Amino acid sequence: MAKQKFQTEVGQLLHLITHSLYTHKEIFLRELISNASDALDKLRYLTLTDDAVKSLEFEPKITIEFQDGDEPKLILSDSGIGMNKKDLKDNLGTIARSGTKNFLSNLSGDEKKDSQLIGQFGVGFYSCFMVADKVDVSTKKAGEEEAFVWSSDGHSGFQINKDVREEHGTTITLHLNDEGKEFANRWQIDSLVKKYSDHIDFPIFLSYEDVEYDDEGKEKSRSPKTDQINDAKAFWTRPKSELKDKDYQEFYKSISHDMEDPFDWVHYKAEGTLEFTLLFYIPKKASPDLFRTDYQTGVKLYVNRVFITDDEKELLPVWLRFVKGVIDSSDLPLNVSREILQQNRIMSKIRSNAVKKILDKLRDTANDKEKYTEFFHQFGRLIKEGVYQDYEHKEALTDLLRFKSTKEDGLVSLKDYVNRMDIDQKAIYYITGQNEGSLRNSPLLEMYQKKDIEVLILDDEIDEIIITSVPKYDEKDLKSVNRSGAADDFSDEKDEDSEKSTKPVLKKIKKVLGDKVKDVKMSNRLSDSPSCIVADENDPTSQMQEILKSMGQTDMPEIKPILEINPTHEIVEKLKGMTRQKAFDDIAWLLYEQALIQEGVTLEDPSGFVKRLNKAISNTL
Ligand code: ADP
Repeated sequence: MAKQKFQTEVGQLLHLITHSLYTHKEIFLRELISNASDALDKLRYLTLTDDAVKSLEFEPKITIEFQDGDEPKLILSDSGIGMNKKDLKDNLGTIARSGTKNFLSNLSGDEKKDSQLIGQFGVGFYSCFMVADKVDVSTKKAGEEEAFVWSSDGHSGFQINKDVREEHGTTITLHLNDEGKEFANRWQIDSLVKKYSDHIDFPIFLSYEDVEYDDEGKEKSRSPKTDQINDAKAFWTRPKSELKDKDYQEFYKSISHDMEDPFDWVHYKAEGTLEFTLLFYIPKKASPDLFRTDYQTGVKLYVNRVFITDDEKELLPVWLRFVKGVIDSSDLPLNVSREILQQNRIMSKIRSNAVKKILDKLRDTANDKEKYTEFFHQFGRLIKEGVYQDYEHKEALTDLLRFKSTKEDGLVSLKDYVNRMDIDQKAIYYITGQNEGSLRNSPLLEMYQKKDIEVLILDDEIDEIIITSVPKYDEKDLKSVNRSGAADDFSDEKDEDSEKSTKPVLKKIKKVLGDKVKDVKMSNRLSDSPSCIVADENDPTSQMQEILKSMGQTDMPEIKPILEINPTHEIVEKLKGMTRQKAFDDIAWLLYEQALIQEGVTLEDPSGFVKRLNKAISNTL
């Protein structure tokens, strides 16, 4: 068959791997063994559930052979599910995961050299091109007749040809290059398997030539030998007391393909009426495909150590999609289908236990502010999603929220806020918008600053949406400073006289602005600024309107803001006595327009604004 080209992104991935990972080149073996183990998992499941392959002889194992000398080779075989021609083409030549693909095509030149970045997604099979200048994958899919061999040099593309082989499974032959020849060595392989793949649930055999020497050190005999070199005990079934951090870290890397150590993990065994084991990992970094709808789950389901699925999004709530790991239960039926899984009572119990354990872990982590901040920077968005979507765990999740604040650097919790609150303070206040800097300087905060009241700064796009689902915390209302109602809490401090004298001005301004505003009101939240814009209590704020617009929602009714005027401001004082109508109009527009600018709203008529501004400037000169 003619040579086929790699998909562009595979070329990029290969380049990235060979140029940034060479200091970790030994991980290729872990990646190949983990693929072999997945292939064995898949076939083991089929032999138990699928009539077509039930009769198949299946002795699950992985075998490693090597050849040193002039043409060093490493040969890794598994008796797993194998691949047919289409599988070969789809799996080894393209990158199926759209998140990874997207991530790669968006990398800038500098980032392409960064080995940290590559840890964010699986390097997988292609890592073998770090140590080999040619790779052959001979394979036959279980239950099918034809065998094929895929060959590639890792640069120019690949070829698929027919092959002859009896048994199903896959044999990968690495023609080792100068970087890789050291791996054609019994002790190297033995120690790498012990380091990276000891916990694989299938036996790994190493074939080598045993050389015997006589008393004078001369070679006496050579005989082929095969030893099992791993423990072959599913990692999560081992008692916690036996396992060291290092073991957990290695297992994480083998199931996640992540190059970095995990952020943390939870290992839990339930014994009693319901038996199951959970081993969950929180990665250090959010993988690039987490925020795509076609994200891949990181949790594998096993029934009594038999792999069932790694493609079941119902195992955990959607907001927990950053978690990687294993759920294993002996109480589920082996031939559990997706439909059964979704309605299964046992599964739902396991699921709720799983969520509880992860929440416990996060609560625990939150005691360490620095550590939790690190977590929240990566996965805070998912916690917020959870608050919004997961009614059952909303309370716990709300406690895990963190926000910026006018009181403290870093992130604060609602609990911190409430604990610091003055007893007279009526509500928890927050301000929403897109830019932290302009929020901190917003005129809307003036009164709060003056009264030393803490305001939470919500500058993440989704904050405004999620916060509406938290109307109260610890019996205190949460109030948006961007809305008209928040200032009502301070209405008892109104100055009657100035109210009286300002009222006619408000009326006149309203007349000038016409239907641009819903209302013009006296403000009791401003001190230095003459005006500000707020949303009516139940209207979307201007920020929310911008988000909806950017999401393509164009058929929104026009929602008008309320203009608030500071009765004690010098400009407003002067307006009270102003008689020239034209000049009054200009100032009224300027008060409205400057308030919009501070809210980050694009002006409808910027040149009109500039004209008015220039007129005002030249009048003062
Ligand atoms: P990943 O393992 O993250 O999916 P890889 O690049 O390592 O990515 O492998 C791509 C795909 O090739 C695998 O998902 C699997 O379908 C297939 N594959 C790789 N190795 C084997 C193997 N030994 N047996 C069967 N299929 C395999």
